[in-house]
Amino acid sequence: MTIGNQLHKILEQHANTRIKLRINDNHSTVLSVRSYPDHIRVSLHRLFLTAPASILMDLAAYISGKIRKLTPKVKAFMESAMERLDYSSRVKGSALLTIGTHHNLINLFEEINHRYFDNEVKCRVTWFGRKSRAAGSSATLGLYSHPMKLIKIHRRLDQPFVPEYFISYVIYHEMLHQVCPTYHDALGRHYVHTKEFKRREKQFEYFHEASQWLDDNEHLIFN
Ligand SMILES: [Zn+2]
Repeated sequence: MTIGNQLHKILEQHANTRIKLRINDNHSTVLSVRSYPDHIRVSLHRLFLTAPASILMDLAAYISGKIRKLTPKVKAFMESAMERLDYSSRVKGSALLTIGTHHNLINLFEEINHRYFDNEVKCRVTWFGRKSRAAGSSATLGLYSHPMKLIKIHRRLDQPFVPEYFISYVIYHEMLHQVCPTYHDALGRHYVHTKEFKRREKQFEYFHEASQWLDDNEHLIFN
């Protein structure tokens, strides 16, 4: 019996219903549950293959609808298992845009990595989004994908009026996400920008200037 089959059995026993289980290896679907009249369809990330029984029982209770929210224990398990995932080899180098019209992300990234992190941050960086004003513009300046080990900086920042120190600040913020991981506390609350994160964020040389610049210019970035 494979581990997947074992998992299937445990879930069916605890959920008390027929489950069609698919194990995925996809960073964007950790868990999806769909109910049908005679069965429940579940897609579970392979990280659950190593989950202890107590986690699987909680998971089964959630899948069967006995409880409406994932328990803090399951969330914490997912969180730490996700941290060990590495899908960075799936990121194609040719898909990365590091050189902009006005700003060069790779230079800024390397400078910050050297200065603040002893070159310890292992990730790549790319522009994302549309440069022109377009439907779907968002207020997201930067993103960090942990499993992809990829920082994305919005193209709207690739404009001449955006100072280099501001882009550096956004990159620095996203790099901190690799260094200061998120966590769930015992009550299931999710902490993304932890105390330690905020403390280190202030160590950026132009932290105050960058915050002030954003307050003064936010309307120009996404106008
Ligand atoms: Zn953040």
